[in-house]
Amino acid sequence: MLAVKYAERAGRRGEHFLGGDPHADSPMPMDYFVWVVTGGGRAWVVDTGFGPVDAERRGRVLLRSVGEALALVGVDAATVEDVILTHLHYDHAGGLEHFPGARFHVQDREVAYATGRHMTHRALGHAFTADHVAELVLAVHAGRVVFHDGDAELAPGLSLHHLGGHTDGQQVVRVSTREGWLVLASDATHYYENVEHGRPFPIVFDVGAVLDGYRRLRDLADRDDLIVPGHDPLVLERFPAVDDRLAGIAVRLA
Ligand SMILES: [Zn+2]
Repeated sequence: MLAVKYAERAGRRGEHFLGGDPHADSPMPMDYFVWVVTGGGRAWVVDTGFGPVDAERRGRVLLRSVGEALALVGVDAATVEDVILTHLHYDHAGGLEHFPGARFHVQDREVAYATGRHMTHRALGHAFTADHVAELVLAVHAGRVVFHDGDAELAPGLSLHHLGGHTDGQQVVRVSTREGWLVLASDATHYYENVEHGRPFPIVFDVGAVLDGYRRLRDLADRDDLIVPGHDPLVLERFPAVDDRLAGIAVRLA
């Protein structure tokens, strides 16, 4: 399983913990990733990133498109058959067009959430880009969305688990590796510190579910260091680079 960085933003600690942080103004950058699970001659892509429109509108630094990021590790997005969407926030569901041949795996509750009454609240809706949600709805009607309700096994050693809280339908990806069960948490924990200290990230639908989710991450992973957060630059330090050329860009998680 690989993690490939496609974007970044400068950030401060105070932005990344509910209730703030004693060192609020200290730098705490954020990385943005797309992930790839390979096995049985297939590649499963997890999340689709965002493009230049969102980068400009939201002040993010787009380093490479998700298509380019995947090409760096030998994956042709145009031929990918299965894409898992951990949730529908702009930085995870903003690149469906890179995958013209793919089915999109998503939780029932995430689609209900992203198209329902809670989106009338700016505090909950701001991390969604309406055009991305509309694209997913078009994909539903084109027969290209696979809905899941809770846990689901996609292939031997590859499963999805609903851990709502960050969004109502957030899901995580569990992969069997030589080291044991690894859990790609995506935004069930943005940083290692969120899960390690039980301090939720402030973009949140249900704080209690986020905290229960931290416990669930520990139950699902065989070891705490096999929990992979969604946005932590430390992921690029704690796991080995795919090769020298991709140092600081792509790491092998398993
Ligand atoms: Zn995110």
